Order: sequence, then structure tokens, then C-alpha cells
Amino acid sequence: MESLRERLFNAVHESANRCVQCGYCLPVCPTYQTMGKESASPRGRINLVRLAAEGKIDIGEHLAPPLDLCLGCRACEVACPVDVPYGSILEAAKEAIALHQHGARKHGQSAEGKWKRKVAALALRRLFPYPRRLRIAGSGMWLYQRMGLGKLVRAAGILEKRFPPLAAFERVLPEAESPFRRYRFGEVFPAKGEKKARVAFFAGCVMDAMMSRINRQSIELLTMAGLEVIVPKGQTCCGALHAHQGYTDQARELAKRNIEAFEASGADCVVNNAGGCGAMLGEYAHLFRDDPEWSGRAERFAARSKDITQLLVQFGPLPFTKTVEAVVTYQDSCHLRNVQGVWKEPRQLIRSIPGVTFAELEQSELCCASGGIYNLQHFRESMQILDGKMEKARKTGADIIVTTNPGCMLQMKLGVERAGMAGDTAAVHLVELLAEACGIGQGTLLKGTRRRATRV
Ligand code: SF4
Ligand code: SF4
Repeated sequence: MESLRERLFNAVHESANRCVQCGYCLPVCPTYQTMGKESASPRGRINLVRLAAEGKIDIGEHLAPPLDLCLGCRACEVACPVDVPYGSILEAAKEAIALHQHGARKHGQSAEGKWKRKVAALALRRLFPYPRRLRIAGSGMWLYQRMGLGKLVRAAGILEKRFPPLAAFERVLPEAESPFRRYRFGEVFPAKGEKKARVAFFAGCVMDAMMSRINRQSIELLTMAGLEVIVPKGQTCCGALHAHQGYTDQARELAKRNIEAFEASGADCVVNNAGGCGAMLGEYAHLFRDDPEWSGRAERFAARSKDITQLLVQFGPLPFTKTVEAVVTYQDSCHLRNVQGVWKEPRQLIRSIPGVTFAELEQSELCCASGGIYNLQHFRESMQILDGKMEKARKTGADIIVTTNPGCMLQMKLGVERAGMAGDTAAVHLVELLAEACGIGQGTLLKGTRRRATRV
């Protein structure tokens, strides 16, 4: 049977050997920029993976720590002049690390961070694959906020003492929407005006459970652009978190459920509003590259996967009814920009809103260090990168920082608070801003900033 090392060797050796050590990827790597060590750079990590695959270093002891500190933002892949597929190398290495740690645990050689693995494994296996359980958790969050329990928890310092990173994010969680306003799986929303196409909406896991308002607004915007929207039954989490943690088999199981659900919807394309999920959906073909039974279906699915900004530009313009007199800047979602190649459309949509002055953020392509659950696992390193990002955001004089991924949005909200900008600046998802300008927002988007939205 193939050993773990042989499996890693076969998966990465050819691609890792393509690296010519030029270092063009170093200036775009956020962890190298803040940590300043070769082992925190793409080039260093590739070399370590190669050494582990050749059996020259230990997977658990030498490879896991530097790989664990990689954000997976894949800016290095875009910068690389010889197309080293860093994402695939990282994925294979993460899988090898997860298997190695599993083996170490079984043989009583528990590696460090045992509790972290337990919590992550529990959430990935028992929560994320089940939309109903996630919705119950989301409803719990709504109740928690409605009953004002957050104030009690904060006053008692419960989270602060036990898990400070969670306490920080609890403070900036957006107001959850009532579960009674949620769309249903299987529901169809007719196009407003002439129907141009039928699209299937990918609801996601965190977005569906905790930010269903943004999903509801996304569906409304799509119908305003003339699209009939179905929210297919049977869909589930995209599997990105699983793949990034090395649980590739589970990611495949989730992908199969999504492919089946969306095939049954009869839609022309699959639309999502989260850069991280969209990147994963678009990479289903890669996930099944060695599986003749699923590869064709995965390829067709991936080819039809679109970000909401692409569809709103293609089928727009949106019927704006309000002006938003505000300076707006945009922080790219790494997975939307670096993996899906979508960066023009969000900017085009922001600029099209009446009243908006768009201010480009310096190095907006550099990751905000949200990185899925990276900011919870590596809070200190993540905040170091985020604080640098906020310095640049401050220079834009923006009233609103826009993002296109739920994780980035929470990270920017926390950044705004840490930088003492909370009185002047809001951090929102692009869908929320567009909804506000189309008259279907909450009307509280610019609360706390110096600006207001007014009727056109
Ligand atoms: S994925 Fe991002 S953090 Fe990781 S090595 Fe590449 S640029 Fe650096
Ligand atoms: S840019 Fe590409 S070839 Fe150059 S060091 Fe980075 S990964 Fe290697």
C-alpha cells in the first residue's frame, strides 16, 4: 500500500519542482510580509513540502506548523511567472498533515493543539454538512441577540476569559434576521419583468445560518436583474473549510450532494455571494480529477458556477432608487480575485451606485487575514495583518468598506473597531450596499457613519 509520504510525493513532486526559486511571490504574501521568514513564504513552504515528500523532514514536526500559518489566499499563485499551482500543493500537503495527525492520535502520540483539532473536526463533521442544524444554530444566534444576552456575556467576560478570539468576533456580529423571514429550500422566486434566465442560488452554510438577510437580498437583486431564482433543495456546505483543513474526502461527499441538487434544479447557472464558496464550487472539477464517475458532472457544475457580481453586471443595470452620498472602498476577497479572477465586476457595481465616490484601497488584493477560520486559529498573526490593512483603509477616507465574502466582512468589521474607526466607517457586504441603493435594504446600513442614503 502507498505510504503517506509516497502519496504526497506523487501528488506534489512534479508541480513543486516547477518552482524556480525566483521569489516573485514574496511581496504578495501577507504572512511573509508580516513574519519575514522564508518558512512563512510561498517559496519556503513549497520547498518544505518537497522535502517532506522526499522523506527528508517530518510531516508533523516540520511541515505542519509553517503550512498551518498559510492563509491559503493564493496571491502567490497569481504572481508566479511559471504557474506553480500552489493551491494544489497546499491542498495535498494539508491532506497529508491531517492523515498524519490522525495516525499520531491513534497511536497515542497526540500532537499539539489536540483540542483545536477536536473542535474543528466536530464542527466540520457534525455541523457544517447539515443545513438544518446550522439553521437551528442561526436561530439560536437571533434569539441570543434579541434577548440581549450578548451584553450579559460581555459584562461577565465569559468568552473573553475562555476564548478571546471568539469574544472579539462576537462583538461585531451583524444583527441576525428573524428565522421567520428566511427563504425556504425548494422555493422559486420569479424574475421581475422579462425573464432572462433561470439561476440556482447557492445559500452556503454560514451565510444561510447567520447572514440570511444578505442571501434574501441577493435573491431579490437577482430577480430585479430579470432572473428567475430557485434555491435548490438538498444543497449543503461547499466543502471549502473541509478541504482547507485537509478533510478532502468529506469535501468530496459534500460536493457530490451539491452537484446532484443543482443538476436537479434545471437552472442555467449556479450563483453564490461568497468568494470563498464560489472558489470551491469552481474547483469541483479539480476535486474529482481522478474520479471517472464524477469528473464530467463536476466539470459541468464548475463551469456553470458564477459569482453574483458577474450576473448582476451581465444582466443589469439594477433599478437604483436611492443615492448613497458616501466614499466607498473595496477589499477584494482573495478567493474571488485570485481563484475566480473576478475583480472588475464588484468595482463596476460600486461605481454604478448614484452618489458613490469610489476610492481604491492600496493593496486591496492583499488578504485581510480572515482565511476561513484562520483568524480564530491564529488570532495574533491575523490581527497583525489586519491592522496593517486598516492603516491603508484609513488613508482612503472611506465611509464604507465593501467586501464580497462573509469572513472578510466580519474581519473588516473587527478591523474598523480595532482601528477606532467605528464611529465613521461601516464594513458591509456588497449585496447590502446594492440593496440599500435599490430600496430593499434595512435603512440602517450607514448608521454610525457620517453619511445617509437619500431617495433619487
Ligand atoms: S497562499 Fe497566501 S499566505 Fe499562503 S503562501 Fe501563498 S500568498 Fe502566502
Ligand atoms: S514566484 Fe513561483 S517560481 Fe518564483 S519562487 Fe514563487 S512559486 Fe517559485
